[in-house]
Amino acid sequence: MKVLFLGVGEAFDEALSNNAHLILSESTILLDCGYSIPPSLWQYNDNQSFLDAIYISHPHADHYFGLPALLARMWEGKREKPLTILCPQGTTEAILQVIRLGYSGILERLAFRLDIIEAEEFNSITFREFTITCAPTSHSANNFAIKLENGMNKICYSGDGMFNGQTERLYADADLVIHEAYSLDQDIPGHANIKDLIQMAQRNRVKCLAVTHLQREFRKHEIEKLKKECESAPVDIIIPEPLDEYVF
Ligand SMILES: [Zn+2]
Ligand SMILES: [Zn+2]
Repeated sequence: MKVLFLGVGEAFDEALSNNAHLILSESTILLDCGYSIPPSLWQYNDNQSFLDAIYISHPHADHYFGLPALLARMWEGKREKPLTILCPQGTTEAILQVIRLGYSGILERLAFRLDIIEAEEFNSITFREFTITCAPTSHSANNFAIKLENGMNKICYSGDGMFNGQTERLYADADLVIHEAYSLDQDIPGHANIKDLIQMAQRNRVKCLAVTHLQREFRKHEIEKLKKECESAPVDIIIPEPLDEYVF
């Protein structure tokens, strides 16, 4: 199994695609689908049956506005394989609305079954080879972090938001936590910073922390400082570039 960091940018970064990642195992799962993600995905793999599921962490444009284009190209490509969209409890309507706004009537024309499943806090779901568990973060929209376990490895992804007690419980003993970070050490409401993340990862015995969704000015001006900080950190930290892979 491997994780491919498809996009590592935040919402308004002119240089990088939105934050989104691919879980490549027996099944292929896309974690988040912001407005700049469809071209990045098609460049990587343009087979319209490539994805088995899409996880939407929360209804912000840089995490789910890519859905209309993705589904419309699947329709054009005559996809027949069922597709699952997993999202936090209470998010189905927002997802249907954005698809309908983008391409009205597309949902009725799809030649494949589209299942939208809402995850409930700590109520695990089995999806193919994975047990999937979700927990809320602290963000300006209802955001769930996700944990995927296949009996061998535990991968977590924050979506957006500062971790809290529930998310720490979810991340405990994970092999990889992909987490958003908006600054090195400043407290920014609704987002995490690197210093707090390092302490959290150490507290929860996280094997590797991948920091993405870095605020664009922070990435531009403080990346060298961040790399130094990571080198001396007591936990294993990576700062992925687009299309980097983490292999288990
Ligand atoms: Zn975001
Ligand atoms: Zn957000």
